[in-house]
Amino acid sequence: MLKTHTCGELRASDAGKEVTLSGWVNRRRDHGGLIFLDLRDRSGITQITVSDDPEGNPPNGANPSSTSSNGNNCAGALATASQVRSEFVVQVSGSVQKRPKGFENPELETGEIEVIASELQILSEARTPPFVISGNQGDEVDEAVRLKYRYLDLRRPRLAANLRLRHDIVRFIRNFFYDRDFLEVETPILLKSTPEGARDFVVPSRIHPGRFYALPQSPQQMKQLLMIAGFERYFQIARCFRDEDLRADRQPEFTQLDLEMSFVEAADVMALIEEMLISLSAEVSDKPIQKLPFPVLTYDEAMDKYGIDRPDLRFGLQLFDVTELVRNSRFGVFKNAVAAGGIVKGVRYPQGAQLSRKDIDDLIEYVKPYGAKGLAWIGLTGDAGDNGQYSTDNLRSPIIKFLSEEESAGLVTASGAEKGDLILLVADEPDVTNPALANLRLEIGARANLVDPNLLAFCWVVDFPLLEYDSQEDRWGAIHHPFTSARDEDWSILEERPADVRAKAYDVVLNGWEIGGGSIRIHRSNLQMRMFQRLGLSEKEVDEQFGHMLEAFQYGAPPHGGIAMGIERVVALFADAQSIREVMAFPKTATGTDLLLEAPSPVEDDQLAELHIAVRERNPVSN
Ligand code: ASP
Repeated sequence: MLKTHTCGELRASDAGKEVTLSGWVNRRRDHGGLIFLDLRDRSGITQITVSDDPEGNPPNGANPSSTSSNGNNCAGALATASQVRSEFVVQVSGSVQKRPKGFENPELETGEIEVIASELQILSEARTPPFVISGNQGDEVDEAVRLKYRYLDLRRPRLAANLRLRHDIVRFIRNFFYDRDFLEVETPILLKSTPEGARDFVVPSRIHPGRFYALPQSPQQMKQLLMIAGFERYFQIARCFRDEDLRADRQPEFTQLDLEMSFVEAADVMALIEEMLISLSAEVSDKPIQKLPFPVLTYDEAMDKYGIDRPDLRFGLQLFDVTELVRNSRFGVFKNAVAAGGIVKGVRYPQGAQLSRKDIDDLIEYVKPYGAKGLAWIGLTGDAGDNGQYSTDNLRSPIIKFLSEEESAGLVTASGAEKGDLILLVADEPDVTNPALANLRLEIGARANLVDPNLLAFCWVVDFPLLEYDSQEDRWGAIHHPFTSARDEDWSILEERPADVRAKAYDVVLNGWEIGGGSIRIHRSNLQMRMFQRLGLSEKEVDEQFGHMLEAFQYGAPPHGGIAMGIERVVALFADAQSIREVMAFPKTATGTDLLLEAPSPVEDDQLAELHIAVRERNPVSN
């Protein structure tokens, strides 16, 4: 037997037992005739004591109560121990001893005991690893090195704990849905191209020259077909693939909890997911949920108050809108922005009035990437007047000379600012003003320490617009996907006022991350056809891409809806990880490269020929 116990399970009550452990050498401390090995496996660490004294007594008396068991091969064990290095894989047999008083290690679960080695065998030697594995040092190690040696990175406690948490979360989710009569169904990975907003990964067919499968961006159509098949409650922990330009924290493949239900309305799906998230939080986190039931914001409310459809509600600092107040301002930046159809909104920086010009310039730089040309600022340096209002005399601001008393007082009131606060304003089109301020709000939250890291602030965002205008393509596109239903009352304006149509869609947000989204679907063929027409698809395109869906809807489709949740995001949030790469076993780099396997890689010409494919240009693979 290679092991009788794990390295994490022995306790004082096991003292006297003869055991065999196998694992990696986390650390070796050599005291001459006495060598300590910290032996590690995925369950923990046990201290192994190897001594040249057959009784197990160290030469210096440091460990006086250690007595050897039946070990009479101590000298051999000691000789082997002296060859052992970090990350060697070894097998140890010996007896469990309580550590002498004062030698316990409260940091280790096994810290009350040690194993006095009688036999030690090297199962596998190890080269010096490219970074330190014991403990959590190594975070400063270049991520490219960590990804190339991912199997070593995964030995380190933090990543190992993240994957364990991921396992626990997925297991919890599975059990939750099994218990509620959901059927777990696997859907194909080799699928047909599905337009869901991103580019498909395509797979050439050898048997059908010139034809391609596509990897699923999500199992959206399959789960709807399962509803038509009568399965009623489906879920899957589904792998999804999207060939997107990878932004900071995206991966080309990721995992979703995907589910679909028949005979439900939005409220039913939301209630079930809310129940799941509440119980999951209790199961895997000590952090309290900020507010129950989860607050529900409309999309318009979220944009208005937070400038974003996934607000971080762990802190307040709502945005305020002063477009009307400054419509006719003498301050040209405001007036011109409003005249051009823009908006003027702001956010308060608590106790920011005394920020230096340099700090304020930093904030201005901060909003520039979002397209904002600048930030107007007003510091409440003085006291309010007797009437409780601020006049231009009590404000510090480069724009104050352009504002009327009414405008400056109105701005202060709208912002809710108090003495010592700073007001920051952006005047631009909504697509610039909102994201600039949404991100500025987060930055202020972080700088002013307003975010409580120990809170879980869930919320729902509902009533999304169904469509958005794509000015480059000069047509309307689906915000969610083309199967999402309009609200019943909005179907009548689909053709005339597409911008005003609201969707039966819902997103669930945690601490400013969108962790899931779904909708009630269209289940009637004629409405689905109208939707495709609204999206500008020709009859031929509809037929080629979605003919099977329209046909299926003609054989009795139940009303249905569902949701998908990003497993990596959920795990990353509960693990307090900075990136979804920290909760994936083998992630790719930001440019979609697998540094361990060196994928993507060229393939043999024969392989290409078999696939009826010719490569036009070959680029060196870059990271
Ligand atoms: N398939 C959708 C997505 O991946 C989710 C859904 O509508 O259920 O975003």
